Amino acid sequence: IWQVVKVGKIKSWGILGGTFDPIHYGHLIAAEYACHNYKLDKVLLIPAASPPHKELGQVLHGMHRYRMVELAVKSNPRLEVSPVEMERTGLSYTVDTLAYFRGKHTEVELFFIVGADSLFFMHSWKEPERLAELCRFIVVTRPGYKIERNEPALGRLPDIIWERMLQMEIPGLDISSSDIRQRVAAGKPIKYLLPPEVEEYIFEQGLYRGDKYLER
Ligand code: ATP
Ligand code: MG
Repeated sequence: IWQVVKVGKIKSWGILGGTFDPIHYGHLIAAEYACHNYKLDKVLLIPAASPPHKELGQVLHGMHRYRMVELAVKSNPRLEVSPVEMERTGLSYTVDTLAYFRGKHTEVELFFIVGADSLFFMHSWKEPERLAELCRFIVVTRPGYKIERNEPALGRLPDIIWERMLQMEIPGLDISSSDIRQRVAAGKPIKYLLPPEVEEYIFEQGLYRGDKYLER
């Protein structure tokens, strides 16, 4: 009989939250590079049920967004989709999700992966200080967004977020879900912007066809 004495955390997981409406190669590169660079055991991709910053009715039903993430990660054993936010009622706050994993998996160190653009909104997230106590942040580059502390929106971030932040450069992919939605609505190709399985699903299910997707 032997006991493992836990000194510090023995596993590390990445968490990439998003609307994934739809998932694309920008998300996948962020997850894969963070996983490799910080030697994470895996990265969980968590589609938000009700994203607080997005208008309801503008976002595709969670079932479709979840399914597309599932299809996108199928070929990568290090990436997993998690239904925690879809199963929770109410708005999807990152801090609640991180608290959930922190409570359930005490042996795991959590790394919340975000694109540089998200950092500009983080001061308006629910309980950013508490969030920073639950995880570390891996901020990945995104074309068009420079992370400088003297930017007004970034200056409003609590110190603890800066202290807990790792910054990582990834190959710049100027791909966004909004652009993909508009392209589908306008009848333009989306090939090479996202995995072929996801592209196929979008066309099979007839997603993003309405005029409302043409507006920004
Ligand atoms: P939308 O245009 O609808 O806002 P999006 O492409 O920004 O969609 P989200 O689901 O909002 O995708 O993003 C989820 C997370 O992935 C966020 O942290 C975001 O910053 C990051 N992310 C999305 N696209 C990229 C990209 N091309 N490069 C780096 N990070 C990205
Ligand atoms: Mg976004």
